[in-house]
Amino acid sequence: MRITAAVLDEQGGRFTVTDVDLAEPGAGEVLVRVVATGVCHTDEVTRHGDLPFPLPGVLGHEGAGVVTAVGAGVESVREGDHVVLGWAWCGECRNCLDGQPRYCARLAEMLISGGRPDGSTVLRRLDGSALHSHFFGQSSFAGYAVVHERSLVKVDPGIPVELLGPLACGLSTGAGAVLNVLRPGLGTSLVIYGVGSVGLAAVMAARSTAVTTIIAVDRHESRLALARRFGATDTINAGDGDPVAAVTEICGGPADFSMECTGVIDVCRQAADSVGMRGTCALIGGAPAGARFELDHLSTLWGKRVIGVLGGEGRGAVVIPALIELYRQGRFPFDELVTYFPLEEIEGALGASRAGEVLKPVLRMPH
Ligand SMILES: [Zn+2]
Ligand SMILES: [Zn+2]
Repeated sequence: MRITAAVLDEQGGRFTVTDVDLAEPGAGEVLVRVVATGVCHTDEVTRHGDLPFPLPGVLGHEGAGVVTAVGAGVESVREGDHVVLGWAWCGECRNCLDGQPRYCARLAEMLISGGRPDGSTVLRRLDGSALHSHFFGQSSFAGYAVVHERSLVKVDPGIPVELLGPLACGLSTGAGAVLNVLRPGLGTSLVIYGVGSVGLAAVMAARSTAVTTIIAVDRHESRLALARRFGATDTINAGDGDPVAAVTEICGGPADFSMECTGVIDVCRQAADSVGMRGTCALIGGAPAGARFELDHLSTLWGKRVIGVLGGEGRGAVVIPALIELYRQGRFPFDELVTYFPLEEIEGALGASRAGEVLKPVLRMPH
C-alpha cells in the first residue's frame, strides 16, 4: 500500500517526507495506522551514524496508533485496538525468557539490522528500490508500520493514543531506571544528571518512591525549574561550579543513587563520583560510539556499583500500562513535556529539540 514516510537517504542527511510502498503484514505481523511518533535522541544519534543503521531507510521508534489489519496467526490484537509500538525482541533467548526483553541477545538484529530478522524489508520507493525498515522493529516516522505482534502493547482507548508513543522508549527509560532498577528506599537520596525528557521522567517517577532527596543537575535554568515543579527537592546548575561538591553539600556526603542521562562522557564520571560506599550510579544516556570513561579504583572498590540500564528495563506490557495509570492519577504528568509537530516539520522538531526549545517532540502523521 502507498503510505507517507520520512525517508533518510544518507548518514548526516535530511529527512524527506515522501510517498513510499509498504508491504502487507505477514504471519505474526500487524499493520498499524501510526497516529503519532515521539522523536528520541536515538533517532538523531542514528542519523549521524553513532548507531549503525543501513540507509536509505525510515527511522522512528516511539510510535503509537491503531491496528488496521493483522497477519496470519495473530491473536493478541485485532483491528481497532489502540497500541503502543515497543522495541522488538526475539522472545526466545535467555534474557527474553527471563522477562528482560530490553537485553534480548539478538537486540542489534531486532533493532538496527534494517529489516525483519530474516533480512527482508517491508518498505520500497515507488520506483521499486528497497528502503530499510524495522528500525527498533517499527520504522514509525511513517503513516503506517508493519510490526511483529510481540512488540505491541495494547492500551486503553480512553487516553489519546497520540500522546502515548514516548512511553515506549524515552520516558520508560527514565522512569523505569528508577522504578525497576534503582528502587530507592525510604529516606534515600537520588541525583539526576541531565533533566531533558528522560531525566524529567526520572524525577516524576522518583516522586512515586520513598526517596526524600531528589537533586536535578543541568545547565539550563528552565529545565531546573521544570524539575522542581515535577518533584526535585534541590537543583544544581552545572555551569556554577563542581556539581559533585554541590551534591555532597546537599546530602551531607555522597548521594545514595545517581543517574547519568546526558551521554556526555565527563558527566558520567561526575555521576559515578556522586555516590559512595554501597551507592549505585546508573548510566542511562547514550554516548558517542567508542566513548570511554575512567573510574577511581579505590572508591569504586569500596562497595560502589556502576551499572548500565537499557531502556529502563522491564517488560513494555507491564511498564507502559502502569505509567499510563500513574498519568491518569496525576502522578506522571508526562503530557506537559510533549510538543506536537506535523510529520512534514520533522527537521524543525529535531532542531527545536537540539536547541532545548522543546523537551519531547511528537510527530503527528498525515492521514
Ligand atoms: Zn531475545
Ligand atoms: Zn529511544
